[in-house]
Amino acid sequence: MLVADCLPLLLAGADGTVVAAVHAGRRGFLADIVPAVVAALVAAGAEPDGIHAAIGPSICGACYEVSAELRAEAAAHEPACACTTRWGTPGINLAAGVTAQLERAGVRHILDVHRCTYEQPDLYSYRRDGVTGRQAGIVLPTPVSKPARPCWRADIR
Ligand SMILES: [Zn+2]
Repeated sequence: MLVADCLPLLLAGADGTVVAAVHAGRRGFLADIVPAVVAALVAAGAEPDGIHAAIGPSICGACYEVSAELRAEAAAHEPACACTTRWGTPGINLAAGVTAQLERAGVRHILDVHRCTYEQPDLYSYRRDGVTGRQAGIVLPTPVSKPARPCWRADIR
C-alpha cells in the first residue's frame, strides 16, 4: 500500500499466514477501517492477541493541522486522536487514534516507528511538498513456522 502522510498499517496473524496492509488516512480511520480489518483477520483465523501490528511513517499530530470542526468530528468518533499542533491549532493524531482502536480490538503487539513524514525530509509528504512520491508498506504471508515481519521502504516511487 502506498502513502504520503496517511498512516500505513501492516498486520500479521501469529502464524504468519494471514496478513493485511491498511491505508489508514483520516477518512478510512474515521470509517473504522482498523477494527474492520482486525475483524476480517479474526474471521480468517487469527487470534486478536496474537496479531502483530506495525504503524509506519505518517504525519504526526503536532504537524497535522485541521479545522476545529474536523477535529471535533474526529474526537467524537475517537477521543484519543484529538490534539493540538505545534502551532497551537486543532490537530489530529492518527497514530494515537489507530493505536486506541487496535487496543480496543484486542491487539497487544503494536510497533509504532514514530516517524513523521512532514518533518523528516527523507520521507514523502503530500502536505509538505504537494507533488511527491509515496512510501510503500509491504507485508508478506509466510509459512506457519516463520512469523510474518512487516518492513518499511521509503525509497519506492
Ligand atoms: Zn510531525
